[in-house]
Amino acid sequence: MKRVVIVGAGFAGLSAMEALQGHGYSVTVIDRHNFATFQPLLYQVATAGLNPGDVAFPVRTLLRRRQNVKFRQGILEKIDTDTQRVILADGVSLPYDYLILAVGATTNYFGVPGAAEYCRAIYTLDEAIEVRNRVFEMFEWVAAHGLKDYNLTTVVVGGGATGVEMAGALAELKSRALTTDYPTIDPDAARVVLIEAQDRLLGAFSPSLSRYALRELKSRGVEVRLDTAVKSVTETGVELGNGEFIESNLIVWGAGVGVSEEVRSLGLPHLRSGRIEVEPDLRVKGFANIFAAGDVAGTMGTGDKPIPQLAQPAIQTGQHAAKMIKAIEADEETAPFRYKDKGTMATIGRRAAVAELGAGIKLTGSSAWFAWLALHVMTLLGVRNRLSVLLNWSWHYVSWGRGPRVILGG
Ligand SMILES: Cc1cc2nc3c(=O)[nH]c(=O)nc-3n(C[C@H](O)[C@H](O)[C@H](O)COP(=O)(O)OP(=O)(O)OC[C@H]3O[C@@H](n4cnc5c(N)ncnc54)[C@H](O)[C@@H]3O)c2cc1C
Repeated sequence: MKRVVIVGAGFAGLSAMEALQGHGYSVTVIDRHNFATFQPLLYQVATAGLNPGDVAFPVRTLLRRRQNVKFRQGILEKIDTDTQRVILADGVSLPYDYLILAVGATTNYFGVPGAAEYCRAIYTLDEAIEVRNRVFEMFEWVAAHGLKDYNLTTVVVGGGATGVEMAGALAELKSRALTTDYPTIDPDAARVVLIEAQDRLLGAFSPSLSRYALRELKSRGVEVRLDTAVKSVTETGVELGNGEFIESNLIVWGAGVGVSEEVRSLGLPHLRSGRIEVEPDLRVKGFANIFAAGDVAGTMGTGDKPIPQLAQPAIQTGQHAAKMIKAIEADEETAPFRYKDKGTMATIGRRAAVAELGAGIKLTGSSAWFAWLALHVMTLLGVRNRLSVLLNWSWHYVSWGRGPRVILGG
């Protein structure tokens, strides 16, 4: 059997695995974690809407009934293309006939001084838990010591989907958690400030949906600063381009997507953004048996713009890479990847979301929100997680939200 090594058990890696299993390949999935993370709901973990376990699924459980598929926990460090082996951080090397790189992306701080040091990201489960810990540490501190000399302002940097979802959820958490669990804290002291460098939120959506998101966030008490760049970040707050300084003990960075140093040091060709340069059939430029899929791949869409770094493109590129391996093995021509845009969605809060579904269909409000809920429940891995999320959300809906407001880790 030909050996296919897939690095990354995210949307792209797992969809490639699904397409290959049972087709006569020996597939090894490698990931630094022994679970797959459902990133689109990490902000819900960060704001105590969901439990960490609801958005993580053990890879071994997923692979249990798959044919000739193995899992190996490990961190990809190098690729020896001469001997066709991947070398992991623990020194072990594994041979491959085909390699699919699906290691995703990471936070991009765009070189803003202090940002990497003092901001918190929500790219991994650990990071989401850290943000949740910080939120409740702040509340507990103020409940114990009062507001004197302490700032409860949270700054969210980036008005894309991640920033908007995070700011909306923080605003709801503040109005709900503070009034019920922390009655001695004045909710007005817990400001949520959303900073966006462009002149509108949700730049990937139509302007009318951007305006809707702005209105909804403002009505929930979020202070939105458009046309505002972050100049630097310090331990005590954020300095804006106009010289203003916003004091804050929690700054969440949701502004950009980049590629990790690990990927940059693999010695593969990459675009300026760091995404791996691929041929139209998703083979890494210059390599006949290495594919890249998902966020890490610089897959081109129409024109000369790479396709967005979202779950659907990751799933579709993973499937395409698997299909191309089968084509090569069958001595057939490979085909260029074509992205089928199924639309995009972002939620702002309870009964407020935006959805752009192609063919000019735009939804806002409750219809978009229910569509968003249904889609996210359906795409979660594992029946238990789906039921758990559905139960959690239904409970929050009727009880006005009493999520897992716990500080983990001592
Ligand atoms: C907060 C947040 C919210 C989002 N919301 C949405 C949304 O609403 N809708 C949407 O469509 N998309 C959303 N996205 C984007 C979407 O989650 C990504 O586009 C998608 O996860 C990309 O899939 P992937 O398989 O390329 O990478 P990932 O899902 O990131 O998977 C990569 C895997 O590779 C592993 N890995 C990384 N480096 C190594 C290494 N060196 N060795 C071994 N393993 C490694 C990681 O542990 C991970 O499991 C969101 C992303 C974030 C961070």
